[in-house]
Amino acid sequence: MAATMKALRKMNAGRGLSFESAPVPVIGAADVLVRVKTASICGTDLHIYGWDRWSQGRIKPPVTLGHEFCGVVERVGQEVTAVESGDFVSAEMHVNCGHCHQCRLGEAHICQNLRIIGIDQDGAFAEFVKIPASNIWKLDPAIPEHYGAILDPLGNAVHTVLAGPIAGQTVLVTGCGPIGLMSIAVAKACGSSTVFATETNENRRAMAKKMGADVVLNPAAEDAVARILADTNGTGVDALLEMSGNPTAIQQGFKALRAGGRASLLGIPTENVPLDLVNDVIFKGATVQGIYGRRMYGTWVQMTALLKAGRLNLEPLFGEREPLEKFENAFLKLQGGLAGKILLYPNGMPR
Ligand code: NAD
Ligand code: ZN
Repeated sequence: MAATMKALRKMNAGRGLSFESAPVPVIGAADVLVRVKTASICGTDLHIYGWDRWSQGRIKPPVTLGHEFCGVVERVGQEVTAVESGDFVSAEMHVNCGHCHQCRLGEAHICQNLRIIGIDQDGAFAEFVKIPASNIWKLDPAIPEHYGAILDPLGNAVHTVLAGPIAGQTVLVTGCGPIGLMSIAVAKACGSSTVFATETNENRRAMAKKMGADVVLNPAAEDAVARILADTNGTGVDALLEMSGNPTAIQQGFKALRAGGRASLLGIPTENVPLDLVNDVIFKGATVQGIYGRRMYGTWVQMTALLKAGRLNLEPLFGEREPLEKFENAFLKLQGGLAGKILLYPNGMPR
């Protein structure tokens, strides 16, 4: 096997990424080396590409990006027994420490010492990626390969949707980026009644319809809260799934939430968000929950079950497919908010 491989890397503290030669990762006794078949670009990768304030504080170049992928196990370390070469896998890219307070409580997704592969250490935009064996998720062969590459954001959606009651519930999804769009499909698959969606981008509103939203609103052009209240007999929705991180969307989401409802917040605002706690949370008796990552590994079990049952049609999400070296096209397309998920192929395009 060659000692070097091609990888998409952040080489310097500044804008852009470069397609580089890098050493094939050396695995430890408890690690697995995966040959990446399909990878997918996350909004976080766009932030790192653009070198925004968050990236400047977090990313330490040089580092290979990429945390959404699937592939085939190439080889395993000598202590690894549950995974073998040839297995078709994805992975939980949040690596927990196993010994902090939350890890001991079985809440590894909010570990105090979390490290993210593809952000804090070399990731999957490469021919090979090194993963701790305990983070590997073996994929059922019934799951299509392109779905295997987006389990990380799908897991965010499943975690959020299933963080409270959903069957028979009215739902508002604020923000229809890839994760909001997936949440619409998951909520419908899990039996929610009316799913409302708000989104300011026209292309994404069209995609929200395709993913199964019943009522899609443009909050920049109409009073979305008034419409949702009117459609729910003045009551509001049972569940708010906040997927935008936009302060206005968050505030509107709370106004549209019914008394006794739950607000599950996944979107990450870049500034502090003023809320009317008295009227929109306390007097409403609302349940507010922050959602981070995916539950390890309850979310993965639920997501696999939904996919195996054929309950999720995610096809409308998929846009272009490019070899890894054509990453510039893909990043430009995504920055314009035009595409859903763009897939990159580090080891050749599928036949
Ligand atoms: P995205 O940026 O592609 O999607 C956000 C969408 O919100 C965009 O389509 C945007 O047009 C829309 N939007 C903006 N203002 C709006 C408004 N006022 N009303 C309605 N919609 C509005 O992001 P994504 O990749 O789908 O991720 C969704 C959010 O979740 C982001 O904030 C992301 O940072 C965050 N995130 C959180 C976690 C976590 O673990 N908590 C994990 C991944 C992503
Ligand atoms: Zn921990």
